[in-house]
Amino acid sequence: HAGRNSVCFYSDIVHLKALGREHVAIQSRLSSAIRHGGLQVFYQPIVNARTGEVIAVEALARWMDDKSGWISPELFIPMAEKVGLIQELSEQIMLQSFAKLRDWRESGLSQKLMINVSRSQLYLPTFVTTLVERLTQFKLRPSDVIIEITESVALTDYARQMRHLRQLGAAGFVLAIDDFGTGYSSLSQLHEMPAQMLKVDVSFSQRLHTEDGRRVMQAIAQMAQALQLDLVIEGVETLETVRFLQGLGVNYMQGFYFSQPVPSGVAELWMRLGL
Ligand code: C2E
Ligand code: CA
Ligand code: CA
Ligand code: CA
Repeated sequence: HAGRNSVCFYSDIVHLKALGREHVAIQSRLSSAIRHGGLQVFYQPIVNARTGEVIAVEALARWMDDKSGWISPELFIPMAEKVGLIQELSEQIMLQSFAKLRDWRESGLSQKLMINVSRSQLYLPTFVTTLVERLTQFKLRPSDVIIEITESVALTDYARQMRHLRQLGAAGFVLAIDDFGTGYSSLSQLHEMPAQMLKVDVSFSQRLHTEDGRRVMQAIAQMAQALQLDLVIEGVETLETVRFLQGLGVNYMQGFYFSQPVPSGVAELWMRLGL
């Protein structure tokens, strides 16, 4: 309601899922937003747990629909996947965030960009070459970008996805398993995926007020250490959580305690000055 320049909440938009006909109308507005540059990218900082430095920012897609206001990516990303628009959507997110990263590099900032890649993108035969082409176009290197892959989607054509993941690793990209702990085969995949980083799902941070929740987090931290994987804990909302995670020796944190996802100008300020 406050207009485009403010932080906003869109939780009530989840009710849209219940609206059958409205759903179809939204699909067609989404496809026009994707085609006409109507999507934006917000950035959320990832912080070094010991020093508090901002080491990376995650690019998160945002859509402001003229009729319904802000619509959650939890709604429009799966929608884009269902109607075959995910490739165009991520093309837009990539173009915007890579252009921003190039500006940031030119002004002396060294933070990495984390981007979300869905299984259906990973599956595309052109995925790796397109990504590398885009980077070259913006004078960036694979080591500038961390690719987040969600594990929670069922695996179709596993062999091909694995091949693409290995190609990405060989090209110098850092791979992160996103939403770790929510998938159905997390541990078996850990062995096989050439990932260097685990992003632990928000739901685990939300259970730290229970003894069980704290033990689970402790076990995850020990496992990551044993497997020499960097840990990013998502959904860090309180100082208490920060202290607890620091005690476990966690590497990185992300969450509302540090910052909500914000427009690039605000993110840039935090990269420059610290949070
Ligand atoms: P994700 O990749 O797990 O992103 C983290 C989500 O957690 C974001 O939701 C972020 O706003 C939220 N979050 C961050 N800190 C906190 C916290 O302290 N507490 C709580 N409760 N939540 C926190 P968002 O932006 O709504 O994105 C939802 C999902 O949509 C993302 O989950 C990601 O899977 C997907 N998504 C967003 N942008 C893209 C994109 O460009 N491409 C693809 N393929 N997926 C995207
Ligand atoms: Ca993510
Ligand atoms: Ca996540
Ligand atoms: Ca998620």
